[in-house]
Amino acid sequence: MDHISLRGHRVPILGYGTWRLSDEGCVNGVGMALDNGYRHIDTAQIYENESEVGTAIKQSGIAREEIFLTTKVWMDKLHDGDLQKSVEDSLRKLKTGYVDLLLIHWPVTAVPFAEQLKALADAQARGYAKLIGVSNFTVAQMKEAVEKIGAPLVNNQVEYHPYLSQKPVLDYLRAHDMFLTAYSPVARGKIMDDTTLQAIALNHGKTVGQVTLRWLVQQGHVSAIPKAASEKHLKENFAIFDFKLTDEEMQRIHNLARPDGRMISPEWSPVWDKAA
Ligand code: NAP
Repeated sequence: MDHISLRGHRVPILGYGTWRLSDEGCVNGVGMALDNGYRHIDTAQIYENESEVGTAIKQSGIAREEIFLTTKVWMDKLHDGDLQKSVEDSLRKLKTGYVDLLLIHWPVTAVPFAEQLKALADAQARGYAKLIGVSNFTVAQMKEAVEKIGAPLVNNQVEYHPYLSQKPVLDYLRAHDMFLTAYSPVARGKIMDDTTLQAIALNHGKTVGQVTLRWLVQQGHVSAIPKAASEKHLKENFAIFDFKLTDEEMQRIHNLARPDGRMISPEWSPVWDKAA
């Protein structure tokens, strides 16, 4: 497994997404992921599966410090005090003393960013999180958080796959020693019939999913967190460290981005950055 090294921490470049995994399905999915070598697990308060994720980690017998665990604070827990309490609750469910990365799940403008980020940094100072970051933030919002408020953020988790460019966000993250976590990295299966990806996959004896994940993590400063309930997909997604895409193949995949490529844009979304 390759890592992103950043500010004295190592982030396994491939993680396991758990949205829509619940109950036994979540315990089994996370358990299978850990058995198959995954050491980076992504959950969130709103997924209502932190307890199952915690159970699977405990049952795996793998030392806690070998696993990079992320959770996210939901939109109604962003006031100073509420945020810290909600993280205490998350840690109880996760059956651990800390998460490796704690994110604000969506930008909420009704609570001043300065207040949210002070609470997030306080959670970090209390030892609840080793690293802090955000999710679904635009470049302007990251600038406000990092440059105006001075929050020590390391990560922005955003939708990223071949049909959606994240160039402005990624340029900003790279320039500030931060990294991007790609959610919905296989576009929930929408990319599977793509003929360009199929041709590149054939060149390498790999699948479209593997080529897509390889393209993401080969960029540098990018980790990917595919979700896979099935062991077949979960194993397939992990087998991306034994081949490399050429620069030309990387560029052909970048060229697949389209203006309507975004899949996730709920009504509370910010005004998204547009790639040039
Ligand atoms: P995704 O990982 O792109 O797609 C998951 C779907 O693709 C599942 O139906 C899965 O099938 C299938 N799949 C996985 N690997 C495959 C492969 N190799 N070949 C064919 N199909 C494959 O989408 P996602 O679940 O939206 O995103 C992943 C994770 O990102 C989430 O679980 C969550 O942790 C995170 N996320 C975060 C946010 C945010 O706002 N921060 C938003 C969305 C998601 P099976 O399950 O049947 O195996």
